[in-house]
Amino acid sequence: MLNDAHCHFFSTKFFSTLSQQRGKSDSVPALCKELGWDDPGEPDALADRWVKELDAHQVARAALIASVPSDEPSVGAAVAKHPTRFVGYFMVNPNSADALARTHAAVYAQRLRCLCLFPAMHHTALDDERVRKVIDAAVGGDARVFVHCGQLTVGVRKALGLPSAFDLRLGDPLEVARLANAYPSVPFIVPHFGAGFLREALIAADMCPNIYLDTSSSNRWIRFVPGLTLDEVFRAALSVVGPERILFGTDSSYFPRGWQQNIYQEQKAALDRIGVAAADQDMIFGGTFNRLFS
Ligand SMILES: [Zn+2]
Repeated sequence: MLNDAHCHFFSTKFFSTLSQQRGKSDSVPALCKELGWDDPGEPDALADRWVKELDAHQVARAALIASVPSDEPSVGAAVAKHPTRFVGYFMVNPNSADALARTHAAVYAQRLRCLCLFPAMHHTALDDERVRKVIDAAVGGDARVFVHCGQLTVGVRKALGLPSAFDLRLGDPLEVARLANAYPSVPFIVPHFGAGFLREALIAADMCPNIYLDTSSSNRWIRFVPGLTLDEVFRAALSVVGPERILFGTDSSYFPRGWQQNIYQEQKAALDRIGVAAADQDMIFGGTFNRLFS
């Protein structure tokens, strides 16, 4: 049983939003050509492509993240078409005037299951009242909350020459702990083991039993800690939160690259090297996800 808790749904709307931000009027096909990526087409077609890709790698279910605010309908269409395969996540900027309306629509109309906050990207502190309001709206519809912390690099922005002036101070797992305490029945997911704030993520998760860690991406933040290895990251995470609060993810996003099997292989090899039992690996690679998103 393999479930991927972290994939991005790079839809036509996603690329057209980046094109607008760049201030050139490139069409989506032209933008994708520039990137050397496939034009995603309509959300239905992209959803079908993802299902084929998951089938090819024997992945049962995947989280799909609407990766710019206002792209919830694209992921909603994918989830509606393949409800047993996809779980919809959606990004909201709590600063925007339509944040609450969009959150309501995402959870009640599009049936998305997880609110994604990027405090560093949206320059909004997690203790800001507007963040509380968005979380209230999301959890009213039984959504979970994902909070990106630590290092934040968005490869596609870099490739397109878009600025990434993120306020990294705002993505602190200790701030997530404050929220997790305030909403004890709501699962909070911190991706990439805290993306450089491993220690803080573990301190936060140790205090809050409703904080989960996702393992996604190549975890290149490891190079910020001299001598650290993926094996030791897993060992520490397992000793603090156990397999029941670790969610495997890849951070896959675009085609033709597709699902990043190499990430799975690296993580599987690390867990094998440190001797993690099969039942615990099953929990990390799929069980935790199914418990969170039944
Ligand atoms: Zn990601």
